[in-house]
Amino acid sequence: MRKVSIFGATGSIGQNTIDLIARDPGAYDVVALTGGGNITQLAQDARRLGADIAVTAFEDRLGDLRAALAGSGVQAAAGQAALIEAAARPADWVMSAIVGAAGLAPGIEALKQGATLALANKETLVCAGPLVLETAQRHNARLLPVDSEHSAVFQALVGEDIAAVERVIITASGGAFRDWPLVDLATATVEQASSHPNWNMGQRITIDSASMFNKALEVIETKEYFGVDPANIEVLVHPESTVHALVGFQDGAMMAHLGAPDMRHAIGYALHWPERRDLPVERLDLAKLGQLRFHTPDEARYPALRLAREVMQRGGLSGAIFNAAKERALDHFIGRRIGFLDMADAVAAVLERFEAADGLVDAPLTLDNVQQTDHLTRQWIDETVLQRAG
Ligand code: NAD
Ligand code: MG
Repeated sequence: MRKVSIFGATGSIGQNTIDLIARDPGAYDVVALTGGGNITQLAQDARRLGADIAVTAFEDRLGDLRAALAGSGVQAAAGQAALIEAAARPADWVMSAIVGAAGLAPGIEALKQGATLALANKETLVCAGPLVLETAQRHNARLLPVDSEHSAVFQALVGEDIAAVERVIITASGGAFRDWPLVDLATATVEQASSHPNWNMGQRITIDSASMFNKALEVIETKEYFGVDPANIEVLVHPESTVHALVGFQDGAMMAHLGAPDMRHAIGYALHWPERRDLPVERLDLAKLGQLRFHTPDEARYPALRLAREVMQRGGLSGAIFNAAKERALDHFIGRRIGFLDMADAVAAVLERFEAADGLVDAPLTLDNVQQTDHLTRQWIDETVLQRAG
């Protein structure tokens, strides 16, 4: 039996992962499941899957989790240290599906014990790509992409020489506002930004899709994971979300990956890799679909894409700054303290402030430095937001 753990088990990716694992209960020995405030879901899944331990990220919810697990034989734990301890428990395969930079430390810990890390948490590579890849290498651990675009590129590269790759194209649906007039974006509400035309995902990544901050993170993720020169990474808006990515080779050929917009494909690919197994996803009917459209994104509409290019050029800790700034700006948008377009403005302002502060961006890329920089970035976003409100 394969030992598996799921970090962020109560979220959208976590629940899809559990759906796949629960279909074949004899094949998996579940070590750890983690979640946040949804104790009922966490306890229910931990009982059903017979996990060794369930961990909530919130220390003040330990009592609730204990009560919900009473008599089950599943151990309960809470807080950051408990998350790290759970990640250090031997497992063959670990799903990294916490949302945000909070997923970084448990992911690194899982790599250190040699587990294969299925990476839905793109923030891990955005914040600390070189550190994460080096940790994997040192501990002989494997990283498998779960983000649909990156899983698609990974699949298009099977049997290919990366040196023959000329370009990588990742697609974007364009999010909730792709057809809105530009002038209306300033007043877009949280509710409007939280509905995605094609994918059913967690709220934060759904809003990031509307602003293209999600695609901005994914461009950086592409550079880090595959080592592709940023100049050769392109984004195309593709409203049907059927082609997830394309790889162009030096002989002019392109390999495209197509599939229904269902994350269980990419999760299942990473779960069964290097094999392909039957997965419960819809089969495409291209004749019924009729057409696939592509167009270049308008940078005036999506400033996040331009910021990602600057970040890739800058290197160092700028990925960690970019991500933390985006996360905190998103908190303020969800909290209705800033407008939709103010998110990119605030992120740009904080990136500039770091650039002006000598040496901060170029500190060595260690977990400590990433976490400290993350903390300072959030503080600076708060100051920026306060200043503008005042
Ligand atoms: P979600 O919000 O639905 O779930 C997030 C999970 O993380 C929950 O289990 C939550 O309890 C936990 N969590 C939240 N804050 C935490 C913290 N501070 N510490 C520990 N745990 C915490 O998110 P999601 O949509 O499933 O996305 C998870 C990750 O996968 C993100 O990095 C996202 O970008 C990536 N991703 C998601 C999708 C998708 O379809 N949902 C697709 C591609 C990539
Ligand atoms: Mg994606």
